[in-house]
Amino acid sequence: MVRTPLVIALAAGTAAASALVAVTGPAAAKPPTPSVDAVAAADAAVQARPSVLRASKHDTFQRRQVYKSHGLTYAAYDRTYKGLPVKGGDFVVVTDDAGQTRYTSVAQSSPVGEVSTVAKVTESAAIATARGQLTTVTGVEATRLVVVATDGAAAKLAYETTVNGTGAEGVSRLTVDVDASTGAVLATEEHVTEATGTGTGWINGTVSLNTTQSGSTYSLKDPSITNLSCQDASTRVTFSGPDNVWGNGNGTSKETGCVDALYVAQKQKAMLTAWLGRNGQNGSGGAWPIRVGLNQQNAYYDGTQIQIGKNTAGRWISSLDVVGHELGHGIDDKTPGGISKGGTQEFVADTIGAATEAYAANASDPFDYQVGEEVNLVGSGPIRYMYNPSLAGDANCYSSSTPGSEVHSAAGPGNHWFYLLAQGSGGNGQPASSTCNGSTVTGVGIQAAMKIMYNAMLLKTSSSSYAKYRVWTLQAAKNLNPGSCTQFNAVKAAWNAVSLPAQSGEPTC
Ligand SMILES: [Zn+2]
Repeated sequence: MVRTPLVIALAAGTAAASALVAVTGPAAAKPPTPSVDAVAAADAAVQARPSVLRASKHDTFQRRQVYKSHGLTYAAYDRTYKGLPVKGGDFVVVTDDAGQTRYTSVAQSSPVGEVSTVAKVTESAAIATARGQLTTVTGVEATRLVVVATDGAAAKLAYETTVNGTGAEGVSRLTVDVDASTGAVLATEEHVTEATGTGTGWINGTVSLNTTQSGSTYSLKDPSITNLSCQDASTRVTFSGPDNVWGNGNGTSKETGCVDALYVAQKQKAMLTAWLGRNGQNGSGGAWPIRVGLNQQNAYYDGTQIQIGKNTAGRWISSLDVVGHELGHGIDDKTPGGISKGGTQEFVADTIGAATEAYAANASDPFDYQVGEEVNLVGSGPIRYMYNPSLAGDANCYSSSTPGSEVHSAAGPGNHWFYLLAQGSGGNGQPASSTCNGSTVTGVGIQAAMKIMYNAMLLKTSSSSYAKYRVWTLQAAKNLNPGSCTQFNAVKAAWNAVSLPAQSGEPTC
């Protein structure tokens, strides 16, 4: 569970207006030098308990991550109720360098009412229920009492347990919320994000890599990105050797798969710095181990690692858009609100994969808006097409069925939106893209589009959805372009063009 280690459980009954607890989380360990004044101003704004926070008298707030982007400071907060963590109680306060609150993004739409913090179900019964959600269980992580404040539903006391093992969809790391009064499962959250990937490793050609030397031994460990290395998935040992020469161009070699994967991670880190001003994939100079050797036509991120599988010809699938996508899940995880919800997680990761591929400008894998074109995962070409999702059977246009669709299929409207925002309906050197409303959309370029997307992710809360991404991307375009509505209008036109309608209370320009 991504945020579990960050939560400070306050003793029940300590709720007080002044109990604003400043917490240094992992993301703040090496912060991207946030303005101290802006952070203090955000804390003061929170301490005043404005109505937009939907605070009950039992709520206290804990600051978590802080990100600085284009002159604004994004401070993310969690909430406790009578000392218990509130899932769905998070919010982001955006402050300018003058200390003024510019925007507040809040997950809850109403305050937590009166909720008893006394469980009627035993912890062991709740754990048994959580285990029952998986086919096989290899481990159980921590269990704790929480208040679940799902947007639009009454808040409930629950046990939150994370179990590891195998479920119907394969490998699983699942957080299960069990109602502490009735024993019913309230919600589950799968942390394993699967991209039926692409292949690479033999794709990126001859590349230079940043490696680590210890004595006379070199290893595929990045010297400056904390925790980034490439390993054999079977042994979890980082590839090493007496020379600094890696791989042989054969896609079935795990070491070659690692050459491609590490190259992608390092190119992406450079993109994050140059385009977004973000310090590494996790926002504080770090990333995760990449493990090549998963015996599936798949790749995934699970909150602790990236696993890379193979195509049906046995070649490891470490391409720019696949590894860029998986690391993109990690970036999504390590921005406020955690992994995006409501059918948006795969589109978010695809935008980051596309931006990584664009930034790398590798002649062996020319920049495009197909996903997995280099890998031919199962012998039928790309797995997704951002300019025309229907080519892979996904929806081009948003509808009420989108949020409930299979997560990769649900990426269609979001990918189409991103393409229209970046390239426009004419394609600007890429394929033309038809709109759902017959309109013509002018693009802003992928760098500006990615910047808008990323700054929208900084407004993300745990109640993310397509509708909220429309609001957040509009607000991001405003935040990034004081005094100009050009990009704002492009964001709006692109959402209209994929049939995601205007939302009540959305920004105007
Ligand atoms: Zn994915």
